[in-house]
Formats: sequence, C-alpha cells, structure tokens
Amino acid sequence: MVMGPTHAMSGAAVGLAVAQILPGQWGGVDTAGGVIIYAGLTAGAALLPDLDSPQATVSRSFGPLTGAISRFTENTTQAIVNATRGRRDPRCNNGHRTFTHTLWSALAAGAGATALIGAYGRPAAIGLLFFLLGLGIRGLLPEWSGSTDWIIVTAVAAALACGAWYLVPAGSFEAVLGSAVTVGCLTHLLGDMATRAGIPLFAPLVPIGGRRWWKVKLPGGLGIRANGPADKVLLLLFTLAVIAQLGLVFADGPQMILPEVFSGATHRT
Ligand SMILES: [Zn+2]
Repeated sequence: MVMGPTHAMSGAAVGLAVAQILPGQWGGVDTAGGVIIYAGLTAGAALLPDLDSPQATVSRSFGPLTGAISRFTENTTQAIVNATRGRRDPRCNNGHRTFTHTLWSALAAGAGATALIGAYGRPAAIGLLFFLLGLGIRGLLPEWSGSTDWIIVTAVAAALACGAWYLVPAGSFEAVLGSAVTVGCLTHLLGDMATRAGIPLFAPLVPIGGRRWWKVKLPGGLGIRANGPADKVLLLLFTLAVIAQLGLVFADGPQMILPEVFSGATHRT
C-alpha cells in the first residue's frame, strides 16, 4: 500500500483544489474557512478505506474504538466478498482492500455523510470532522507506536474540530461537505490503484470471465512500492501542493477565514 502520510497529504491537496473550484452556489465553500474544513474532511477520508485492516496504523487512531471498527469492517467485507464472488474468484480470507476499496463504497460514504449532516446540521459536521481529522493525523504520523498515542490523536482532533465550529459554513452545506468524504475516499483509491496489488474498483457489479473481484491496476510492473522512492516523491509533491494552495487560500487575508466575524469582509468569489 501507499503509506499513510502520502494518503493523508494527497487527500489534503486534492481537497484544497476541489474546494476552490466548486461553484459557490453549491453552498459551503465560499470562504477560506470552508476550504480548510473541506480539505480536513478529504485528508481524513483519504485514510477511511484502510479501516478495513486492524493492522493498519489508521486503525489505531482512536485506540480500542477504531480497533473494534476495523475488526468489524474486515469481517464484514470478507463476508461480502464471499457472498458475491464469481465462480472463478478465490475464496476471501482477509477483507482488507476489498469492499471499502470500491467506487461504490466511496459514493456510499459521501452519501452517508451528506445524510448525517443533513439530519443533524453543524454538530454532525463537527463530529465527522473530529473523526476524520483523527484518521488524518494518525495517517500523517505513522511512526507514533506507543499504546497511548491515540489519546493524543483524539485530543488534538477534538481541539481542532471544536475550534472549527464557526468555520463550518452557514446554510445548506450537507451535500458539499458530504462530497468531501467521497473525494477523499477516491483519492485513497487512486493511490492504492498505483500500487502493484491494485484494487477491485468496480466489484462486485462488473463480472469479467467468471470473476467479480478482479483488480484494477497499472499495466505491467508500473505499480509503485509502498515507502519506496516513488512514494516519497509523491509525498513531497503533495506536500508542496498543499503549501502552495494554502498560500493562495490565505492570500486574501485572515478576514476570509471568518468573514461574518470580521466586519466589512466580502465573500470569496
Ligand atoms: Zn487502501
């Protein structure tokens, strides 16, 4: 797999870019604060698919909670593969990189986030931000290995999410924030697709030659190795993209973060 930092950083870079090109009338991303929230959601969602592996660092984000979620997810996705596999698909003994690594689960995650925020509004957006920031921070700092590091991750994610309360855009923002979750998941899938193992992007809906869980991957030998040179180069490029875009987002000055607080400020156009 591509390493956690690359996933998190690519999610942030793509989120910053998408947030800035989304039309303002879709709601939500017409302030720098909205852009930051959007990118925070995509950065965390870019780790979300790997919650199907109890061994993944991201499964230690919230200690026992994400540990239990990942064991449940791995068992469930394994069952999904075995229930839907074609006659030539091998039996699945490990749910990692299966259902959560499909296009459909990326769309479902965004739809679920949209429904949740639509029903509960700002508190749901902040709760989701808290959870996904936890995954994102953990993804960026995989070398933390102590058994209590998750407490720090949880505290930092909670502080950031609470601090973001007033940054959540006003009005109907559920679809635009929900789209951030799908964008983050898709960024993860693109990263995994670039590795040698590939992912079952269209499974189980597109059968080919008796197989439903065939994998999409780069042609012959082009796949990159986790933590290899290509992974490091990608991490560097995405980091530079994040820094450059943050510069653009904040170029208009701090009043763009909280226009309703700074009097006389105008919205981003
Ligand atoms: Zn993955």
